[in-house]
Amino acid sequence: MEKKTQRSQRTLVLVPAPYQGHINPMLQLGAFLHSKGFSITVVHTHFNSPNPSNHHNFTFLSIPDGLTAGQISSGNLIGILLAINANCKESFQQCLTQVMKQEARNDITCIIHDELMYFPEPVANNLNIPSLILRPNSATNFIARSALLRLHSKGYIPFPLPDSLSLKPVPELHPLRFKDLPISTFDTLENYSKLMVNAQNVRTSSAIIWNTPDCLEQSSLEQIQQQCQVPILSMGPLHKIATAASSSLLEEDTSCIAWLDKQSHNSVIYVSLGSLASIAEKDLDEMAWGLANSEQPFLWVIRPGSVCGSDWIDLLPQGLKEAIGERGCIVKWAPQKEILSHDAVGGFWSHCGWNSTLESISEGVPMICKPFSYDQKVHARYLSQVWKTGLQLENEIERGEIERAVRKLMVDIEGKEMRVRALELKEKIEASFKSGSLYGSLNDLVDLIRSF
Ligand code: UDP
Repeated sequence: MEKKTQRSQRTLVLVPAPYQGHINPMLQLGAFLHSKGFSITVVHTHFNSPNPSNHHNFTFLSIPDGLTAGQISSGNLIGILLAINANCKESFQQCLTQVMKQEARNDITCIIHDELMYFPEPVANNLNIPSLILRPNSATNFIARSALLRLHSKGYIPFPLPDSLSLKPVPELHPLRFKDLPISTFDTLENYSKLMVNAQNVRTSSAIIWNTPDCLEQSSLEQIQQQCQVPILSMGPLHKIATAASSSLLEEDTSCIAWLDKQSHNSVIYVSLGSLASIAEKDLDEMAWGLANSEQPFLWVIRPGSVCGSDWIDLLPQGLKEAIGERGCIVKWAPQKEILSHDAVGGFWSHCGWNSTLESISEGVPMICKPFSYDQKVHARYLSQVWKTGLQLENEIERGEIERAVRKLMVDIEGKEMRVRALELKEKIEASFKSGSLYGSLNDLVDLIRSF
């Protein structure tokens, strides 16, 4: 256990799920609540533990997660999360009991846990501490996930999806098609359902904190609130409400900012497939030649290990370097938020994880959407069909389609129109900071926690 700071009176215990897309919003929420005078303790698993050195104001406590080396190396996110939830209840309770025993530390006001980490909730009940859920995902994904679980429980959804069904619309979920449902490709639908039924369940939580802006997802949020007994506090994008230090699990290569500084306004396409997606060698080849042939400058994050069978960029095709010269910059991990707000960045080719989607929308950057699994497919469909700030790649990764999509986004009138709509969304989000729903939700959350 590591202690980082002296605490004040009211301590909030935060329990993020151990993945980048979940750690970021939880620590951003922590930064906001710290700015409101709360003391923040982050309880995390050994697996993918966040780096405390960037968060001197927080206390970080690590609990054993009981994961085996085999489970970790499998990369099976569903299996890992199910195991963590099965293994961690006792160690979490011990950890909190110890915290409460220590002098002047019997003051845990509330536990805020990620929706995928549901083991803290019974512990909170045992210790008589109120709890809140953070949903770091879109409200629309929640609705799609509920529909998927319903269809699955009735035996209406075969897995894997047959081609004959994949393009059909899901009843009452326009514009989603069956292929857009947030199905996992990592595990069986049974295990996925087991995890998600628990994640969807509100149980005894006092409220739901949602990392989404009301102005983007009003109708989905209203629909959910009608069926939810506790308040829903939509307060996204969290990365904009408080200045939080980086919570990257990988080291950010900031040298690409100097490269971006040399590029002209809106000229660069930023390419990143997030912290989990991986591609085959042939996809790498197609991506590389698609980007090169588009003749647009690009900044490409290739995460170590994200190309199957390769450590990093050793499998990049021969002749690529000569073909792109100074027009391409490749890094292992980037300061993404800074990049998206850079004047030179005019487009984002993304896997459409919710954080990346929000980060792009809040900077008015239009997107090329290539989802892999889970919620990414819902977001890609909404970006292209509802918010109309994205262009979805529907087929296998192929150089010709990539070249055309990049040109469409960066050069053609269609891309310019998407940029205009993206900037309108950015303005709406900025407006919600000054007044309106976001402001209300932030106050409601602070008032609620103070009332405990
Ligand atoms: N990210 C980053 N640098 C990179 C790539 C991604 O900092 O080079 C961050 C990104 O800003 C986002 C998170 O990693 O906050 C990825 O979360 P997201 O929900 O988009 O996707 P996931 O990784 O969960 O699939």
